Amino acid sequence: MNKNNVVLITGAGRGIGAACARLFAEKGYAVCINYKSNINAASALADEIISLGGQCITVQADVSDEKEVSRLFSTIDNELGNLSVLINNAGILRPQSRLEDMSAERINTLLTTNVTSYFLCCKQAIKRMSYRHFGQGGTIVNVSSGAARTGSPNEYIDYAASKGAIDTLTKGLSLEVAAEGIRVNCVRPGLIHTDMHADGGEPERISRLQSKIPLQRGGTPEEVAEAIYWLASEKSSFSTGNFLDLSGGL
Ligand code: NAP
Repeated sequence: MNKNNVVLITGAGRGIGAACARLFAEKGYAVCINYKSNINAASALADEIISLGGQCITVQADVSDEKEVSRLFSTIDNELGNLSVLINNAGILRPQSRLEDMSAERINTLLTTNVTSYFLCCKQAIKRMSYRHFGQGGTIVNVSSGAARTGSPNEYIDYAASKGAIDTLTKGLSLEVAAEGIRVNCVRPGLIHTDMHADGGEPERISRLQSKIPLQRGGTPEEVAEAIYWLASEKSSFSTGNFLDLSGGL
């Protein structure tokens, strides 16, 4: 057990989660890099952090599965100590489609991955952080999306709706645990350069849309990580139930 701050970042092998892992490690946090299947990306990131003097572990777990989430948190208890920050970041996108062509299987997988997982991780984090459970407090940052506001018509209403649910989760939970030492906030990124757009069937989506972004470009995972770090840290100590939009003005 160590006296460091400990952070769990779900879906941290790649993209926005990986940028968070690098930043939190640089700031002195012991980092748990969770991933689902891309062990090579997660291991390479862990090697990089350790080579720079940081402390981290990698834990494979599907965060939409309650038993796997329990195992993930027990591993952190045993290997890193008291959890102080949870970043709910893992998420998926399915190929662009109109709603009438979406199968129940697609919708359910997307909702359990993007929504149920956040609930399950919050549940475990609260049991460790809340004063009600003799914890020492902590912070939770949920990664939502600008899609929660636009609804993503003709592309992925299922994904947009999953992020709308995360906004509501953030608001409700922030009020539920505010007096228990836990702050819950949310970032809503716009178009960010990661692999996710290829999963949506259009790797070059940002190039197509960037002229519509007032800042005329997509964002980087590092820019999102800075906002997440601010919301997770004591620098944002009077913020809870708040939303930070990172969309280049879109
Ligand atoms: P990404 O590059 O596609 O990475 C997604 C990460 O989530 C991967 O590490 C993946 O693990 C992990 N993951 C997926 N399903 C999982 C599961 N069931 N259990 C555990 N991990 C799982 O995505 P990203 O763009 O960085 O997105 C991160 C978050 O930002 C998501 O919540 C996304 O909705 C949100 N966001 C992204 C954008 C954007 O433009 N990129 C915009 C708004 C919001 P593996 O590596 O093992 O596959």
